[in-house]
Amino acid sequence: MQLHITGLSKTYPNGVQALDDVTLSIPRGMFGLLGPNGAGKSTLMRTLATLQDADSGSVQLTDVPGTINVLRDKDAVRRVLGYLPQDFGVYPKVSAEDMLDHLAQLKGLSSRGERKDVVERLLKQTNLHDVRKKALGGFSGGMRQRFGIAQALLGNPKLIIVDEPTAGLDPEERSRFHNLLVEIGEEVIVLLSTHIVSDVSDLCPHLAIMNKGRVLLSGTPQALVGLL
Ligand code: ADP
Ligand code: ADP
Repeated sequence: MQLHITGLSKTYPNGVQALDDVTLSIPRGMFGLLGPNGAGKSTLMRTLATLQDADSGSVQLTDVPGTINVLRDKDAVRRVLGYLPQDFGVYPKVSAEDMLDHLAQLKGLSSRGERKDVVERLLKQTNLHDVRKKALGGFSGGMRQRFGIAQALLGNPKLIIVDEPTAGLDPEERSRFHNLLVEIGEEVIVLLSTHIVSDVSDLCPHLAIMNKGRVLLSGTPQALVGLL
C-alpha cells in the first residue's frame, strides 16, 4: 500500500499558490507532514480527501488492492478513506454510541447486530467504551478527537488523513491520541499534518517538511535530525 503524489499544484483564485509541484511517496504507517501555518498542508490533505481539485499533477493509491487514481476516481477513494478535518462538528446531544450506529447505518451496515459489534469494537479501540452513553457535547477535546478517529475508522479505511489533530490537547490526551494513531498505522497509511516538530519526530518513521506550497525535504526523522 502506497500513496504516490506527483507534481501536484494548486493556485487559489486569489493568486495564492498553495501547492507548488508537490511530489511525495507515502508508505504504510505513520507519515508526518510538518510545516508552519500557510504551508499548504490542509490544501494537500483536502485534495487527497477528494474535497477539492488540484490544477495539475497526479495521485495514485496502490495495492488497495489494485490502483486508484485519486484525483479522478473520487468514489473509489472515498470507499478507502478516513478523513479527520481540523475542526469537525458533532451533534452535541447525541451519544457517541448512537452517533456511530447512525453513521454505520449510513455506510450501509443494515444489520443491527453487525452494527452493534462494529460500534463496540471502535469504542473499545478508541478508549471511549466507558463514555459511550455520554452526549458528545460533553466530551473533552481529547475524547472528541478519539471519537473523530472512531468515525474515520468506520468504513475500514486504508488511508487515514488527520489534520492538526492535537491542537489544544493536554500532554496526557495528546500521548493517548498518538498511541492510538501508531496502533492504527500498523495496518494502514496514516497521514498526519502538524506544525509541532515533536509530533512527527517522535511518532512518524517517515516525514516531509513543507513550506510555501513546496516540499522542502522528505525522509526519516534520523536523516533530518540536523535540520530539526
Ligand atoms: P496549512 O494547512 O499548512 O496552514 P493551507 O493549505 O491552509 O496551509 O493554506 C496554504 C495557503 O493557501 C495559505 O496562504 C492560505 O491562506 C491559502 N488558502 C487556503 N485556502 C484558501 C482558499 N480557499 N482560498 C484562498 N486561499 C486559500
Ligand atoms: P489551516 O488552519 O489549515 O491553514 P485555515 O484556518 O487557514 O486552514 O482555513 C480555514 C478555511 O478558510 C479553509 O476552508 C480554507 O480553504 C479557507 N481559507 C484559508 N485562507 C483563505 C484565504 N486567504 N482566502 C479564502 N479562504 C481561505
